[in-house]
Amino acid sequence: MQLKELSGIGEKTEKLFHRAGVDSVEDLLSYYPRYYDTYEAPVFIRDLETDRTQAVKGTVVREITVRRVRNLTIVDAYIRDEKGNGMKATWFNAPYMKNTLHRGDVFIFRGFVHENRGSYVMDQPKTFSFVQYQKKMGEMQPVYPLVSGLTNNMVLKAVKQAFNLVKKSETIPLEIRKIFQLQNVEDALYNIHFPKTNNDFTIARKRLVFEEFFHFIITLRKLKETNDTIKNYHVLTEPEELEKIIENLGFQLTSAQIRTWHEIQRDISSDKVMNRLIQGDVGSGKTIVAVLALLTAALNGEQGALMAPTEVLARQHFQNISELIEKNCLNIKPVALVGSMTAKEKREVYTLIESGKADIIIGTHALIQDKVNYHNLALVVTDEQHRFGVRQRETISEKGNYPHTMVMSATPIPRTLAIIMYGDLDISIIDELPSGRKPIANCVVGTEYRPKAYRFIENQVKEGRQAYIICPTVEYSEAVEGENVIEYTKKLQAVLPSHIQVDFLHGRMKASEKNEKMTAFAENKIQVLVSTTVVEVGVNVPNATVMMVENAERFGLAQLHQLRGRVGRGGNQSYCIFINGSGKKDAGRRLEILNQSNDGFFIANEDLKLRGPGDFFGVRQSGDFEFRIGDIMNDADILKDAARGVDLIENNEIHISEEERALLYKQQNEIISI
Ligand code: ADP
Ligand code: MG
Repeated sequence: MQLKELSGIGEKTEKLFHRAGVDSVEDLLSYYPRYYDTYEAPVFIRDLETDRTQAVKGTVVREITVRRVRNLTIVDAYIRDEKGNGMKATWFNAPYMKNTLHRGDVFIFRGFVHENRGSYVMDQPKTFSFVQYQKKMGEMQPVYPLVSGLTNNMVLKAVKQAFNLVKKSETIPLEIRKIFQLQNVEDALYNIHFPKTNNDFTIARKRLVFEEFFHFIITLRKLKETNDTIKNYHVLTEPEELEKIIENLGFQLTSAQIRTWHEIQRDISSDKVMNRLIQGDVGSGKTIVAVLALLTAALNGEQGALMAPTEVLARQHFQNISELIEKNCLNIKPVALVGSMTAKEKREVYTLIESGKADIIIGTHALIQDKVNYHNLALVVTDEQHRFGVRQRETISEKGNYPHTMVMSATPIPRTLAIIMYGDLDISIIDELPSGRKPIANCVVGTEYRPKAYRFIENQVKEGRQAYIICPTVEYSEAVEGENVIEYTKKLQAVLPSHIQVDFLHGRMKASEKNEKMTAFAENKIQVLVSTTVVEVGVNVPNATVMMVENAERFGLAQLHQLRGRVGRGGNQSYCIFINGSGKKDAGRRLEILNQSNDGFFIANEDLKLRGPGDFFGVRQSGDFEFRIGDIMNDADILKDAARGVDLIENNEIHISEEERALLYKQQNEIISI
């Protein structure tokens, strides 16, 4: 049913909904709220907490004032509660408030509280009589994800109408719902939008999360079943050059790397196609294992492709592989294929790929475009796989005649969950860091530490080392506080001596510019690189020993851990400086976890404990897996149940009707991405 058929939605509003990913009235039902606004009991002013919405019962104690600041009209009122504490309430561009409020009035004021010069200010509070507020108390108002132009009220109205017009059919078999105590789909959908109590919400959410995981697992199992029966059309045996190549690496492979490599070798020379996940923390040395596999394909006279999530990373892989080939005098031609190349350059590469002259192809998703035809693709490696969907993984596989696939991931999820999440893949785990690595020294500090940090960086540069500094935003904006790359770079250029090259990098730059900057950094022509999180995935500059993160409180711990993974990649002692820009204790406490350990798994688990299981709408624990409502770490128990549910069906341990079965497998067609 089309959105336009709802009252209040015209063509313009329909477009806004499309942008939010809602294309039909049915879609509205699964457009879940981001969180709920609950009307909690009023508190005393002395008990207010800053930076959140709260309610206070108080009396207006002075005359209301109106002032103008540039083109803003600001109304101020002073409120005192029965304990005698005071706060200010402020409204912008609402001059009528002066006539609504009078000295001596008693109201419940509800608004966002912040602190200004040591006292509390409530922004734009709504006012309620005691009776009005009583009615609202305990209610949970859905707050929806929005795109600009779309308001919460528009969504709310549309969703309410949708419930009277369309229905979703039940996709979880009755037996499964009984065993795992899941609500039916109709009630769950209604309650996720309009829960009356927290309990309503919890029950509804559990069902919807289960459903999402359940169908995801069914899809993966299907995929696995198909893969398991595919025979190996590319039997790749160990080339004689390989031993020499490994000897020439300049380091000893760790035993975890060797074990993984043997698992791969066994797969690619067996009679079934390989589908393998290589999981290993940042810095564990996944790349070289992939490279050995790519070289093996090439030396067997076939093609191997490596797909990276960013151009910077693709270029770097290309560079490294080229050097390795040269060093070993191998007769192998590597090519790079990335979006920023000119049309002419791309055409040349296409020809090389199609004719089979190119042996190893390294690039971004440019590798899976229609124009690329492979000659004899035997192996596809995707690096940092979580950035690609299952679909993309399939697309590139379809480009050849059932090539072997290998995906590499640093996402720290426990083995039990990994087995479920990557159900279509066999798993190798690199659980060991190369020896000789010195543990990274960490510190979490306030902004007052900056001068010291700069002196420290200066000294590291003196010793020939390099540093990254990460800022949350690209340029100054009124909307978001925090450091920005552009101004920070200028500031730093003024602070550090002029012989130290300070430059910047961010996601809004052209791909070619990004490459230039990254190359200059890799060649030590830039010593201090100020950047956004674009450097987060995979880049490898072993000479960099300092990672300083401004406004570290703004980032998820998993992300900070990834950033930290950019240093400590060479033999030199490396350092991580996390600046807590908020000065708040709870942010500091969270960051301390990074201080305690350099282990991605430990960090993910501690982060989870700190936030507690009730915190469903906090920072996403594992945002890499894009589920609508479920979070594999927070909802690990539901994930395990869903996997057990699928087992019950597949092993015929429970009875489900033919209709239910048909519905289950129809879900296959839905696009699911991880
Ligand atoms: P990641 O697993 O994060 O992708 P990389 O593969 O980029 O890690 O490896 C990080 C660094 O460690 C690289 O500079 C790489 O050359 C080096 N490296 C890999 N394996 C070893 C090893 N066994 N001994 C020493 N250094 C190694
Ligand atoms: Mg990597």
